[in-house]
Amino acid sequence: MKRSISLGGSENNDFHLVVIGGGAAGYFAAIRAAEIGDPSEPVLILEKAPQVLGKVRISGGGRCNVTHACFDPRTFATHYPRGEKALIGPLHRWDAQKTIDWFEDHGVQTKTEKDGRIFPTSDNSQTIIDCLCDTAEQLGIETRTRTNVSEISHDADAPYPFSIQCTGGSTIRSKNLLIATGGTRCVASESLLQFTGHKIHPAVPSLFTFNIPKNSLSELAGISVKHASVTIPEAKLNSHGPLLITHWGLSGPAILKLSARGARKLHSVEYTFTAFVNWLPNEDLEISFSQLRTSAGKRSLISRSPFPELPKRLWEKLIERGEIDGATTWSQISKKQLTRLREMLTHCAFDVSGKSMNKEEFVTCGGVELNEVSLKTMESRRIPGLYFAGEVLNIDGITGGFNFQNAWTTGYLAGSAIGETSGQF
Ligand SMILES: Cc1cc2nc3c(=O)[nH]c(=O)nc-3n(C[C@H](O)[C@H](O)[C@H](O)COP(=O)(O)OP(=O)(O)OC[C@H]3O[C@@H](n4cnc5c(N)ncnc54)[C@H](O)[C@@H]3O)c2cc1C
Repeated sequence: MKRSISLGGSENNDFHLVVIGGGAAGYFAAIRAAEIGDPSEPVLILEKAPQVLGKVRISGGGRCNVTHACFDPRTFATHYPRGEKALIGPLHRWDAQKTIDWFEDHGVQTKTEKDGRIFPTSDNSQTIIDCLCDTAEQLGIETRTRTNVSEISHDADAPYPFSIQCTGGSTIRSKNLLIATGGTRCVASESLLQFTGHKIHPAVPSLFTFNIPKNSLSELAGISVKHASVTIPEAKLNSHGPLLITHWGLSGPAILKLSARGARKLHSVEYTFTAFVNWLPNEDLEISFSQLRTSAGKRSLISRSPFPELPKRLWEKLIERGEIDGATTWSQISKKQLTRLREMLTHCAFDVSGKSMNKEEFVTCGGVELNEVSLKTMESRRIPGLYFAGEVLNIDGITGGFNFQNAWTTGYLAGSAIGETSGQF
């Protein structure tokens, strides 16, 4: 239903709900609140950038990986290094299936890729932006871009308890306030939250790739292995999955998972540590080696990769790195050479020094402490009428659509709770 913004809305700057942050979480919450709320009670989204939904636009390489095909809330929640337990309840109320259905109901068809990532069938993030913007417009939600909120004050006894100061001097008042400002990576985002009195976990990056300055494999940039495992013993971290060699070091899902799980630990060692790669975690090398010695005895090691999962150029490079003479035949190979080969294949060391942000998706670990927020409504336990949604919370997921699902889930819960208060003031 279209709501009339002119009735008590933008004219006098008093609102039922003000959402700070025109991102995925802010839009989803505003839409839900407006959908179920009283149409005479205006909803406003404030966005400091010239355009709303900027991250949706660039997400998933411009395709927007909206969610992930995993429909058990407990299993889904395991993809969040921060927020795993807390999200189980919210995901029972709004899960990936509900997200897919919602977008379908609003005209966006989605498709699931082999690895479980879900995208709009258009392969274009603009489809998601158009859907959210059109729906918001139909519901009469007002959006003000280029509007940076610089300060917020709260007076519980006032008819409009939240007073929102925007750079440029305007003041907006609201009965409810949703903070959906995304990751707290800049000082301004953190200081905006100070009035809440909430504990804020300091922001550190998550989802990054590893820089390896003296990487002997860098000339193999672009080569990937489908099933590798990576360990960082000093941080007690390990993960497995596809691994990609890049010009700068190592990337791919196995690395991104590690970076997310170890976001704080790796930050504390200033991204300087040793990572060990097992290129063949599913292979029993003792059996493979003994078979090769008999069945391929006359063949030189270098002639071809004996493991289908290991590209030839990588195999050659590992032999070279292990200082093993590639002309040696499998029947001639010595015990010492086999030990070196085994080490290169299963415990290949890389000295990591620094990180690069993942181009496809990156998020911040940190944000508003979850114990101080109701996970049924996303309302602050300190200030009634104050809500949080999305990445501003201390929740972050691994790559694959999990971060947007957090935005949809927490946005939906906040919007539902706010919409239900409509007409009660
Ligand atoms: C390059 C990239 C690609 C990504 N791809 C994916 C993907 O494919 N799938 C996935 O699940 N996740 C992806 N992510 C992560 C995902 O984009 C975020 O987790 C998600 O956007 C968080 O939504 P949000 O609404 O909480 O915050 P945001 O999308 O960050 O929105 C917050 C908004 O608040 C505004 N704002 C902040 N402070 C103020 C202020 N003081 N006043 C007014 N406005 C303010 C910001 O300008 C911003 O527009 C990607 C991230 C990046 C950086």
